[in-house]
Amino acid sequence: MRPPVRFISEAAEVAARRHKSMVRKGRGNEPYVNHLAEVANLLAIATDGADAELVAAGWLHDTLEDTETTTKELSLRFSDRVASLVIECTDDMSLPKAERRRRQVVDAPKKSDDAKLIKIADKISNVEARIRSNPTAEERVDLIEYTDWAEQVVAGCRGGNAYLDEKFDDAVERARASL
Ligand code: ZN
Repeated sequence: MRPPVRFISEAAEVAARRHKSMVRKGRGNEPYVNHLAEVANLLAIATDGADAELVAAGWLHDTLEDTETTTKELSLRFSDRVASLVIECTDDMSLPKAERRRRQVVDAPKKSDDAKLIKIADKISNVEARIRSNPTAEERVDLIEYTDWAEQVVAGCRGGNAYLDEKFDDAVERARASL
């Protein structure tokens, strides 16, 4: 494996390029890459920088779902472990949204320990992005629905990292207090 700084820098560059024209849900028209940066950084903090592949997978966790990137490319360019972590975080986009959400809840406890950490970091970032100071009716409904669902997914993922568990609980608390 390349030195960890190179490994993670390359993951960040690939992620930024692949998601370049995407905008994230919530908080204005923030570029999607901000979401990836948040997830990767949460994982880096949670593991105190001990796991470059996990942080790289954080940067890349939405590439299979949202871009033309392939599993093979992730394996060759990064590692089999990175590719397999990203696969574990990828929904079947041929299914309707409600079914994809249902499957995330059902499948969460079956994920690997490291994929569970990525899932929690993803939900922290997404709940936080939906918290607004003056939400519209639609934004309130979206925040309530997303937070309720994220709690169910995270219930099947928690217990592996106290920092992430606390961060998620804190995000949920702030989400509910904002309503
Ligand atoms: Zn994500």
